[in-house]
Amino acid sequence: MKTETTVTKAPEEEPPGKSLVDSEVEEPPSKTALTIKHIFFSQVPQELWNDWKWHFRNRVTTVDELAKFIPLSAKEQTRLKLVIQKYPLSITPYYLSLIDPDDPDDPIRKQAVPSFQEVALAGMGFEDPLEERRDSVVPGLVHRYPDRVLMVLTNLCPMLCRHCTRKREWHHGAWVRTPTEIEAMLDYIRQNKRVRDVIISGGDPLALSTQRLEEVISRLRQIEHVEIIRIGSRFPVVLPQRIDDELCAMLSRYGPIWLNTHFNHYQEITAESAAACDRLLRAGVPVNNQTVLLRGVNDSVATQLKLCQGLLKIKVRPYYLFQCDEVQGTEHLRTPVKVGIEIIGGMRGYTSGLAVPAYVIDLPGGGGKVPLQPNYVLSQTEEEVILRNYEGRLFSYRNPVLFGQTAKTNRRNGGNGSRHQGSTQLAFCHF
Ligand code: SF4
Repeated sequence: MKTETTVTKAPEEEPPGKSLVDSEVEEPPSKTALTIKHIFFSQVPQELWNDWKWHFRNRVTTVDELAKFIPLSAKEQTRLKLVIQKYPLSITPYYLSLIDPDDPDDPIRKQAVPSFQEVALAGMGFEDPLEERRDSVVPGLVHRYPDRVLMVLTNLCPMLCRHCTRKREWHHGAWVRTPTEIEAMLDYIRQNKRVRDVIISGGDPLALSTQRLEEVISRLRQIEHVEIIRIGSRFPVVLPQRIDDELCAMLSRYGPIWLNTHFNHYQEITAESAAACDRLLRAGVPVNNQTVLLRGVNDSVATQLKLCQGLLKIKVRPYYLFQCDEVQGTEHLRTPVKVGIEIIGGMRGYTSGLAVPAYVIDLPGGGGKVPLQPNYVLSQTEEEVILRNYEGRLFSYRNPVLFGQTAKTNRRNGGNGSRHQGSTQLAFCHF
């Protein structure tokens, strides 16, 4: 995909700087936050800690900087310097403060800190497994499904997640779409009246200034057939301070807007991230969560239960659990498909259905999303279905009578519609 791009220093209009000055800092919500935040950021005034642009300017982007926060041997540092030549590093101070520096298996660390395996296993997988480039109708606009399109506005992200599907975009320097490119995307949407749903993604589109984002959203809203706008953003998780009053006020003017975010572990649910989601909800923006299943991060029933139940407590709906795509440089984080199915099997029935996300594989080659779950249907005929429940018990469920077959079925059921032996009584309301 050839793109006309502008190199930018995001966030826009903000001078770079690294300032650690005296101030009081609130008690952080967890042990890990206490460790790094108290040791390294205790001198940062609360006003700056609450300022997303300060976090953006002070991202950790070199191995030398990282080694000040997390113990790294000389060998590790040498290796990581090699890795980031191919796959760069970027961690916000906020997200860094969630890491337990003494735990090499910390689930937050695994998502943020590069691994040598990214290059050691780089021969496995594909640069663009979903073939988004092939489905780009104009630069930055992917049109794969009939009624929705994906607008990629920038490749900027506050944190570079090691499992990112669009790692291929990290090589090209920072860019945002030019006004000309955005106009071409809007033109395409205007001319395609079947497009009722526009997903704004990246990179992370909230890396743009609120003003620049409003220029795009307000023009989308002028297109009559665009019913909903969805924003894909990890800011609520990695830099929740970005969800400020100005942004929320802007979003509230152009609803319905939905926001899909990306919590992967319950330790990411903090006072700050909960407050960010709450601000979005109060602005009329429903928040859904898309988790990626990651080896050593969240690949157990217990972790997923705690994550999804925690999300419900902050009024965020667990929407998808994604199988990690076949992306080059992520093989060490991928799990066998059976792990995801077992996790869903360990959640369904054991907690509220609202807490159970849809486990999906985004098929390679642009085949779309396919939902996977344990096999609950053991057999079926026109008359009945044999089902297994979450505890492994078997049930026979009578199929409804089809029009024209009433007499035959009534005879079989003794004329009174009675159930097969062994079936359970179903209530009318399935709450
Ligand atoms: S926020 Fe999303 S697009 Fe950005 S690095 Fe993380 S996974 Fe990739």
